[in-house]
Amino acid sequence: MDQVILVCGTWKAQQNQWFFIADKCRRSAIVGADLETSYNDFRGRVMEEIGVDRRIDEVQLSYMITKSVVNTPPLRVTNSLQFWSFLKLFRNHKARLCVEIVKKTPCHQGVRDRRQDLFVDSDSDEEDDEEMRFDCCDDPDGASSGDEEYGTTKGRFAKEEEEMFYLPAKEDSIPAFLQLERGSVELAVGQRYPTKKALVLRLKMLSVALKFDYSVGYSTPSLLTVCCWIEGCTWRARATTIGSAPEFYIKSYVQEHSCSVTERSSRSRQAKPELLGRLYSEFVGCVGPTVLPCHVADALNKRYGIKMDYWKAHCTLRFAREVISGSSESGYEDLPVYLYMIRRANLGTLIKLEVDAEDRFKFMFLAFAASIHGFPYMRKVVVVDATYLQGKYKGTLLTATTQDGNFNIFPIAFGVVYTENNESWEWFFRQLHLVIPDDEGLAMISDRHKSIKHAIKKVYPLASRGICTYHLHKNILLRFRTRDCFDLVKKTASAYTLLEFNQHFAQIEALDPELHNYLVEADVRLWTRVHFSGNRYNFTTSNIAESLNSVLSLFRGSPIVQLLDPARSLMTRWFVARRKNASLMKTTLTRGVEKLLESRVDNAKLWTVQEIDGDQSQVTCGGILHVVNLTERKCTCRRFDLDKLPCVHAIAAAEAVENVIAKVCKPPTVHQPPGRPKNSRMKSALEVTMEIFYVL
Ligand SMILES: [Zn+2]
Ligand SMILES: [Zn+2]
Repeated sequence: MDQVILVCGTWKAQQNQWFFIADKCRRSAIVGADLETSYNDFRGRVMEEIGVDRRIDEVQLSYMITKSVVNTPPLRVTNSLQFWSFLKLFRNHKARLCVEIVKKTPCHQGVRDRRQDLFVDSDSDEEDDEEMRFDCCDDPDGASSGDEEYGTTKGRFAKEEEEMFYLPAKEDSIPAFLQLERGSVELAVGQRYPTKKALVLRLKMLSVALKFDYSVGYSTPSLLTVCCWIEGCTWRARATTIGSAPEFYIKSYVQEHSCSVTERSSRSRQAKPELLGRLYSEFVGCVGPTVLPCHVADALNKRYGIKMDYWKAHCTLRFAREVISGSSESGYEDLPVYLYMIRRANLGTLIKLEVDAEDRFKFMFLAFAASIHGFPYMRKVVVVDATYLQGKYKGTLLTATTQDGNFNIFPIAFGVVYTENNESWEWFFRQLHLVIPDDEGLAMISDRHKSIKHAIKKVYPLASRGICTYHLHKNILLRFRTRDCFDLVKKTASAYTLLEFNQHFAQIEALDPELHNYLVEADVRLWTRVHFSGNRYNFTTSNIAESLNSVLSLFRGSPIVQLLDPARSLMTRWFVARRKNASLMKTTLTRGVEKLLESRVDNAKLWTVQEIDGDQSQVTCGGILHVVNLTERKCTCRRFDLDKLPCVHAIAAAEAVENVIAKVCKPPTVHQPPGRPKNSRMKSALEVTMEIFYVL
C-alpha cells in the first residue's frame, strides 16, 4: 500500500507558472491507498481525514508531474482511472496530492466548471499530449513546475475564496488565467468540457461570434464531430470522451476555413437571445445593474459585428444576467445556503426564513450583527420602508433604518416578503422586536400602509408611530398632481413651534383647501414635528428612505440572493469608511455635529444674553427674544427640546453663564516699598474719628 501525502491549498497561475499555495490553517495528512482503492473511497477518506463539511464543501484532487514535462498545468484526479495513474506514477516515491476545498454552490460551480476546462486529463494518450495547447500557460522557458514554491502560504487566499462565494459575478475576483480564457471564444486542442452539452453550447457561441454555421458529422455519447456547413471547407473539430467519464476533450481542430466568408455567413440559425446572453456574459462585458440593453447591443456589435433590435438586446441582457447571477428560481434555491454562510461569517447575525407547507418562500428577515450591536448607540427612531421587487416572483423588500450620530443612514434590518399584508408586516415587526425591544422612547416612522399601522399597534404598543414626510409628499403628488404647496407642506411638517405650524397650515388652507383637508385626515399628530407625541429628533426621514431606496432599487429585478448581497457589501463599505472617518476625529462630537455647531457658535456671538435666574436666560437679537433653560435643556424656539442639540440661543446663553463662572480671580500683586517697613504711620481721618468715638 502506498502512502499518499495530502496538502490543502489553492492552485495559482502566475506568469505561465503554476504554484500551489498551501493553506496555513490546515495540517497535512497521510492516507494509504493501492490499485484496489477506488477513487470514490479514497476521496471519502480524504474528506474525513481533513475534516470537510460535506454539506457545504467538496474537495478537488490534483497533482503536478515532474519538472521535465513542460507546458502542463496540474493534473486533475476525478475518477478511478486517473487515481490509479497517479499511484503508478508515484510508486516508490513520495506521492503528494493537492487538495482544494471548494464551496458546494451553483455560483462557485460556474467558476469551477470553467476552470476545469483548463486541466489536462492524465489519461490522454501520448499522441494527443504532443498537440496540447493551453491559452493560459504557454511556458517558453520550460519551467512549468512550481515545486520551489510548494508550501508558500499567503493568508489572503482564504479571504478571496470567501469573496468568490459571495460575489461570483465580480470581474476582479476571477483569477488571471480565467480572464485570459475569457478573451477568446475559439476552440483549442486539449480543451475539456464537463459535458457534451457544454461543448455544443461553446460550438454554437463560436458559430455566432464568427458568423458561420456547422453541420454535425457523428454525434454519440462519446464522440462529436462537426464541420463547416459549406461542403468541402476545411474547418472541422473532433471531440471524444475518455473512458466512461462524461467530459469531452477536443482531440483535433482545424481553425481555418477554405470557404468564402460571404457564403458561410449566409446561415446563422443559432443567434437566439439565450445564446447571445451567454456569449455576452462570458466573453464581452459585465451585467451590473447599470448596464442597459443598448450597452449590450453596442458591445456585441463592436466585438462580433452582431446587430440586434432593442427587444432582442433586452432579452439577451436578461439571459446574460441569469448566466452570471442565476435565475430567479436559483435565487430562492440558494437562499438557505446564503443565509447560513452570512450567519457563519457574521456571528450574532439574526436570520429568519419562513416557508409554507409546500416549502415555498414566504418571508425572510436579516439583521447583521454589526447593526444589532450598533443600534443601542443610535437615536431611537426607526424608519420602516417597503420597495416592490421587479423579478419574476415580485415580492417586497422591507427595510428598517435609523440615523447615526453623524447623520448617516444606519441600516438595521432587511426583510423580503412574498406580498405586503397584515401577516407579512406583523411577521417582520415580530422579528424586528428581537433586535429592537418596544419602548416608550421609541418612534416608528413609516408610510400610511394600513398593515404597518396594524402591526405596530400589535407588536410595538408603547412606541409612537409617525408618517414619513417622503411618502406623504409622494402621495400628495400622486393624488393632487401638483408640487405647488410642497414647500409649505415641508415647512408645516418640520415647524418647531405651534406658531410657525399654524401660520404655514393656514397658508395651505387658503391656497388649496382640498389638500388641507387631506393633511388633516392624515392626522397632524403623525406627520408634523410639533404635534408628534414621541421624539423624532432632527430626522429628515425623507432622506433616509430615499437614499437607501435609490441604492437598492438598482437590484430590484435580481434574484433574491443578488438583491441581498449588494446590501451586505454596501453596509460593509459604509461601515469601513465610517470607522476610518471616526478614528481620524480628535473631537468628542461627530464630524456632522461639529459642523452644525460651528456655524451656530459663530451666530451665537450676535445675541445678547441677560440672566433671569440660575437656570434661565433671556437671549435677544434684533427684536427677537427667546428664553433658554439650560438646566432643563429647553428653549422657546424648541429646537433644543426636540433635536436635543443646542440651538444658537442655548449656545449664547451657555457661553454667557460660563463667562461668569469661568472668570479668573487671583489675589492682587503687592509691591513692597523700598527701605525698612515703618512701625507707625499717619492715621487716616476715619481712624481718628473712630478712635475719638470709642473714647467718648
Ligand atoms: Zn467554412
Ligand atoms: Zn433656541
